[in-house]
Amino acid sequence: MSQHLLTVDSLSRESVDHLLRVAARMEPIAQRRQVTRVLEGAVLGNLFFEASTRTRVSFNAAFCRLGGSVCDTTGFTFSSMAKGESLYDTSRVMSGYCDAIVMRHPDQGSVAEFAAATNVPVINGGDGPGEHPSQALLDLYTIDKEFQRLGKSLSGAHILLTGDLKYGRTVHSLIKLLSLYDPLRITLVSPPGLEMPSKLIDLVTSRGHRIEQRDSLASDFSDLDVVYTTRIQKERFTDEMNESFQGLSDDFMVNRDFLDRRCSQSTIVMHPLPRDSRPGANDLNVDLNGDPRLAIFRQTDNGIPMRMAIFATLLNVDDLIEKDLRSVRWFVPAQTGTLDR
Ligand code: ASP
Repeated sequence: MSQHLLTVDSLSRESVDHLLRVAARMEPIAQRRQVTRVLEGAVLGNLFFEASTRTRVSFNAAFCRLGGSVCDTTGFTFSSMAKGESLYDTSRVMSGYCDAIVMRHPDQGSVAEFAAATNVPVINGGDGPGEHPSQALLDLYTIDKEFQRLGKSLSGAHILLTGDLKYGRTVHSLIKLLSLYDPLRITLVSPPGLEMPSKLIDLVTSRGHRIEQRDSLASDFSDLDVVYTTRIQKERFTDEMNESFQGLSDDFMVNRDFLDRRCSQSTIVMHPLPRDSRPGANDLNVDLNGDPRLAIFRQTDNGIPMRMAIFATLLNVDDLIEKDLRSVRWFVPAQTGTLDR
């Protein structure tokens, strides 16, 4: 694994497998059964210049659960970028304060530009419509865990990516990550104008995977293993697109009816979240809440062990975890949500 995590392009199959193994070792800590202090004294700089709940808080929690501490800044208004400071200067300054930095920024390529000015490990927490590598890693970790539970194998699996495939950075990173594995069948379904960039399709097909593009979900998906649905990224639309886009029609609805009628009992449903719950958004339907096929909250939980694995690997403490474990002393409920499975 290289010094930074800016794009999944820097990951080999071996480095991804290593991260999956380290994440599995982090489970007792992520599930609050054990504690470690391997990052005691280390400080994370969490710089988020775009909206975030999961990524910001889970990177923060992951670093703390390794024994480190976190300093953060949110939005442009409260940072010196509002005074015209460059990415270079901010990066150089932050490197003097922190041992690792996570950054999210609305411009594609900005996190790489920031990382070029520092020797401190930088993780891309999402750069505009570009990439979101840690999300793709936790998504792959989720698929792997769910498949183990269901007795399935990734090799030859059928995966559907649907929603905003043009601006959805999580699917950009995920499709490249999946392409490191044995040949898969990948179906892409998106509204017109929001298709997966063709250069990603070309890359993935050149690695031996079969990609099919359909224009709606109204067909047979009975052999589907995973439906990965994404939010329409309206914040990235041009004014013209905002005027013409009418919202997602029923043809793109992932709900209980779609799963029951078109998929199977072992199809799992994933979403990077947030799902847009506003009327008319037609994002992933809440009628699946409580259905064991809905893996979205298992997916968010998996963000902690995977982000711990990323920090431990980048900061070179991945081999120390087992030697540094103690039991927790505080109260932890057996399950954290009322609908957990
Ligand atoms: N949370 C994900 C991201 O930051 C997905 C989304 O916002 O729709 O890319």
